[in-house]
Amino acid sequence: MKREKLLLIPGPTPVHPRIINLLSLPTISHVSPEFVAEFKEALTNLKKAVFTTEGQPFIIAGTGTLAMEIVVLNTVSSENRVLVVSQGYFGQRMKDILTSFGLQGDLIQSKPGEAVTPDELEEKLASNNYTVVISTHVDTATGAAAPIRSYAEICQEYGTMFIVDGVCATGGLEERMDDWHIDVILTAAQKCFGVPPGLAIIVFSPRAMIKRKKMAKIHAYYSDILRWLPVMKDPSQYFSTPCVNEIRAFNEGLRLALEEGMEKRFRRHRQTAQAIRAALQEMGLKLFTREPYWADTLSVVFYPPGIRDEDFRGLLAQNGVVVAGGLGEMKGKVFRMGHMGNLSHSQVMFALEALEKTLAALGYKLNKGQATKRAEEVFNLKIN
Ligand code: PMP
Repeated sequence: MKREKLLLIPGPTPVHPRIINLLSLPTISHVSPEFVAEFKEALTNLKKAVFTTEGQPFIIAGTGTLAMEIVVLNTVSSENRVLVVSQGYFGQRMKDILTSFGLQGDLIQSKPGEAVTPDELEEKLASNNYTVVISTHVDTATGAAAPIRSYAEICQEYGTMFIVDGVCATGGLEERMDDWHIDVILTAAQKCFGVPPGLAIIVFSPRAMIKRKKMAKIHAYYSDILRWLPVMKDPSQYFSTPCVNEIRAFNEGLRLALEEGMEKRFRRHRQTAQAIRAALQEMGLKLFTREPYWADTLSVVFYPPGIRDEDFRGLLAQNGVVVAGGLGEMKGKVFRMGHMGNLSHSQVMFALEALEKTLAALGYKLNKGQATKRAEEVFNLKIN
C-alpha cells in the first residue's frame, strides 16, 4: 500500500485514527436512539469547546462558507449596517456574501500580513452607526490572527453585535463566547477539530437568538436557523436529514479535544507554532505574516530566491508532506503550512525534516539537522 502523505495544508487537517475508525462504521438511522444520543452529545460538547453556557449550537451539513451565509442571513436585516473586519481573503468573502443578499457592508482592511488594530476598529465604530461587526479570527491566506477579545470588548462598549469567523481558529485558539461577549461564532469541522470537511458549525448567543426571532421571515429555507432549532433542541425531530457519519466523526473530534483539555490544546497549538516558526527561521526562511499577528494555526512562508512553487511543493509531496500554495495575490510567492488540529510532535518533526531535505535537493543552502534541532529546543521549553 502507498504510504499516506502528511496533510499540512491549512485545512483539511490530518484525521486522527479514532475518527477514521468511526467513519468506517455503517450509517444508522438519523432518528435512531443511538444517533439522537450522539447528536445531543456533539451539541453539548461543542458548547464546552467554545466556553458557552447559554449559547445555542447548530451543526448542519455544509462547510464554512455555508456557515458564513447562514450567519449573515440570520443576523443581518436590510436596515442594518455591517462592518466587516478583514485581515485578508476571508473578510472579502464575507463582504461578497453580504453583497449577494443586497445587504450593506463596509470593509475595514488590515495591512497585508497584519490585523486591524483595536484602535482602528474603535475609530470606525465611533464615527459610524454599525449594528453588526463581523471579523475573521485567523485569515487562512495571510496567517494573521486578529485580537478578537479586544474587538469584543469594543463592540460591547458600543452595543454592537459581534460575530467571529473561527473557521481557521475554533478549537485551536481560545474563543470564550460567554466570557468575552461574542454573539456568534461560526466554524467548520475540517481545521482545528481535525475532522473531514462536511459541516457548517455555528453557535448563537441568547442575544443573537432574540435578534433572529425578531427578524421574523428571512429569505432562506435550508439556511433558516429557526427551521433547525427544533432539531438542535431535540435531535429526534426531522427537518432535513443530518449527515449521520460526519456528525458522529465530529463528536469524536470534540471528545478528543475535551479529553486533551481546551487550555492544554491551545497551549499545544501555541508551542507547535513556535517550534515550527523557529525551525523555519533557522532555515533562513522569511514569514509573510508580521509579528505579533502570527497565528498558532498556520504559517505563511516566502519562497527564497530561486525556489519555484511547483518544484518545491511537488518534491515535498514526494517526500511525504503536502503544503498549500499562496492564495490570491500571494500565489507563487509563498507556501502555507497548516499546524492545527490533532498534529503530533512526531508528525511535526517528520514535516520539518522533509522541508529541509526538499530545500536542500532544490539547491538551497542550509545546515541539515539544525532546524529540527531548533524545533526540539522549543518543544522542550515550558510555555504558558
Ligand atoms: N473562513 C475562513 C477563515 C476560512 O479559512 C475558510 C476556508 N479556508 C472559510 C471561511 C470557508 O470555509 P469552507 O472552505 O469550509 O467553505
